[in-house]
Amino acid sequence: MALIVQKYGGTSVANTERIKNVAARVAKYRENGDRVVVVVSAMSGVTDNLIKLSREIMPLPSEREMDMLLATGEQTTIALAAMALHAINVPAVSLTGAQAGIVTDGVHTKAKIMNITPKQVHGLLDGGHVVIVAGFQGQSPEGHITTLGRGGSDLTAIALAAALKADLCQIYTDVDGIYTTDPRVVPNAQKLDEISYDELLELAGAGAKVMQLRSVEFAKKFGVIFEVRSSMNDNPGTIVKEETKSMEDVVIRGVSLDKNQAKLTIVAVPDRPGVASQIFTALAKAAINVDMIVQNVSRTSDTPVTDLSFTVDKADLLKAQKVIEGLKQEVGYRELTANEAIGKLSIVGVGMRSHSGIAAKLFETLAGNGVNIDMISTSEIKVSVVIDIAKGEEAARTVHEAFLE
Ligand code: ASP
Ligand code: MG
Repeated sequence: MALIVQKYGGTSVANTERIKNVAARVAKYRENGDRVVVVVSAMSGVTDNLIKLSREIMPLPSEREMDMLLATGEQTTIALAAMALHAINVPAVSLTGAQAGIVTDGVHTKAKIMNITPKQVHGLLDGGHVVIVAGFQGQSPEGHITTLGRGGSDLTAIALAAALKADLCQIYTDVDGIYTTDPRVVPNAQKLDEISYDELLELAGAGAKVMQLRSVEFAKKFGVIFEVRSSMNDNPGTIVKEETKSMEDVVIRGVSLDKNQAKLTIVAVPDRPGVASQIFTALAKAAINVDMIVQNVSRTSDTPVTDLSFTVDKADLLKAQKVIEGLKQEVGYRELTANEAIGKLSIVGVGMRSHSGIAAKLFETLAGNGVNIDMISTSEIKVSVVIDIAKGEEAARTVHEAFLE
């Protein structure tokens, strides 16, 4: 008899038919004697639509009211899921985040979980109920409804699994698990049996949309082992856990292509102490996330100058350009150029720690396909290159072939 936390994402509860399927799956686990806590997202499209409605009223609504509004999406699903279980004679009770004891800070629309006191959850489980908890929401110490940031139902599930010391945490979605790369781009993509937290974090950070980053960080911090699997079939999914020795035998776990970045180059920046600090402090103050940074070797003349390139999310490009242009007088560079037609290709794997020549093989593969490398960055378990976006998908296929087929 196990205690299982199951999270169902928006597509898994997209309509009443699918909600009935969720109920049937939950009932099966219960028949096996397991106790089940279900965390659900809003039905797919609902959160986006609520945001759209709010924007029809005003462009920048109060964040407290946004949370009040967005929390209704998940509340619809918990009630329908409870009813779907009642309809097949399974006792079930739905709880809001607050009722489940999820206490967050007061930062509306991106609150952090501070603690969970799942007294009601325990009580209901002891009474033989399936407990259905609204994902993505909590309550501040002052009693206001808060939400955890887009995709936050993942976090609810992982945090509840930790608080309840669950035996199993399953994240149900519309794909069979985590793949070596995006199967829509690379038909030979393979479903992974397992992946380490760090690899998943690097892949997600490199643009692979698998799970909310914060929830993976949380799982790592609290050692919550979870499985990502499909709600549309019974195939086993991908287990996400702490790295084991045998994971290092596989050199590369996955390949990802991020088409959401743009590159900025500041040409002929004076090469003196404090300039990089000036530039990146200004970007940080504007809440712009900078990913890769490359500074060239200084060109020596009377006043040494260098070129500084970095990447930001495409959505932040205009804002970043404004910030840098605002520094032109103060910093005294020659020119600012921007390029949106880039892709960031990354290979990720803990095996890199114990195998050499990985970067060389990546560069060789790209060269063999006539792909020019624009920028390079590495971490202990990742090598990323910025390349021409037009060559991105083909490069992802050849790199996948070279390392994973
Ligand atoms: N409904 C919320 C969103 O769309 C939370 C979630 O789905 O995890 O971001
Ligand atoms: Mg979601």
